[in-house]
Amino acid sequence: MESTASQIEEIIYSKIRQAGEKGIKQADVSKILGISSAEAARNVTRLIRKGLVRKEATIVDGKKVVMLYIANNDNIDIIANLGNIIDIPCFSCKLINKCQNGSHVSPQSCNKMNRWLIEAL
Ligand code: SF4
Repeated sequence: MESTASQIEEIIYSKIRQAGEKGIKQADVSKILGISSAEAARNVTRLIRKGLVRKEATIVDGKKVVMLYIANNDNIDIIANLGNIIDIPCFSCKLINKCQNGSHVSPQSCNKMNRWLIEAL
């Protein structure tokens, strides 16, 4: 059975994670997985673009080696825009406990919800 690109990415990611702080040589990825170095490089690039992996060039025994590590995402700030969410009418609705799909009071029949949706679009 052939592996898909995402399966290969998952395997590479898990190998890098298993390597821990010492990382893994990019050149070893293709050997470990039995894939071409070009295919390994494409998958590693996708993992880097997703922010899951980082690579670092280093010198080992006088040779330049590209090492792969799990990206440290501890310092990434996540900014969420809650601008439209706080205006959702349900948050201030007195009927929220009676409102459900299929009932007399429901989001499908609610004028406040319809108006909010139209304004939000
Ligand atoms: S959908 Fe309408 S009736 Fe239901 S909780 Fe939201 S605002 Fe209230």
